[in-house]
Amino acid sequence: MDYLFPTTVAQAIAILSERGGRARLIAGGTDLMVAIHEGKIDAETLVDITRIPGLDQIAVGDEWVTVGAAVTFEMLRESAYLRACVPALVDAARSVGAAPIQAMATWWSRWRWRPRRAW
Ligand SMILES: Cc1cc2nc3c(=O)[nH]c(=O)nc-3n(C[C@H](O)[C@H](O)[C@H](O)COP(=O)(O)OP(=O)(O)OC[C@H]3O[C@@H](n4cnc5c(N)ncnc54)[C@H](O)[C@@H]3O)c2cc1C
Repeated sequence: MDYLFPTTVAQAIAILSERGGRARLIAGGTDLMVAIHEGKIDAETLVDITRIPGLDQIAVGDEWVTVGAAVTFEMLRESAYLRACVPALVDAARSVGAAPIQAMATWWSRWRWRPRRAW
């Protein structure tokens, strides 16, 4: 299995495009590695997004807050801005697994992932 670290979003998209359905994005790996280990997913290439600059940022703008795809539940939990202004999101982040999972798992992949089991 190839494990690649693109450094731009364009590179990541190009790899996914070139390798078709045999490549998967990976962020924290808390779901994907279990699925691969259990034989539920068979990937030839994993495309790790965690070294793409900027994807681990919570950016507060005038009208929007942008949460990058590599932002973990721990980052959400610890964000002073979100604690003050979006406490429901912080509460949701706190409810995911335990601290070690929150440190690795990303919120965006939570939206992308089918429900596997009740947590
Ligand atoms: C012990 C344990 C406890 C858990 N507890 C909870 C819980 O309480 N609540 C809960 O909701 N979940 C829980 N989970 C599930 C898991 O932690 C979450 O689903 C988490 O959001 C996965 O994040 P990840 O970054 O590790 O994803 P990964 O495992 O890296 O990826 C998961 C899926 O998302 C895709 N993906 C990753 N990044 C992107 C992206 N940027 N764009 C598109 N697709 C992407 C991957 O290809 C893969 O299909 C738990 C898992 C474990 C192991």
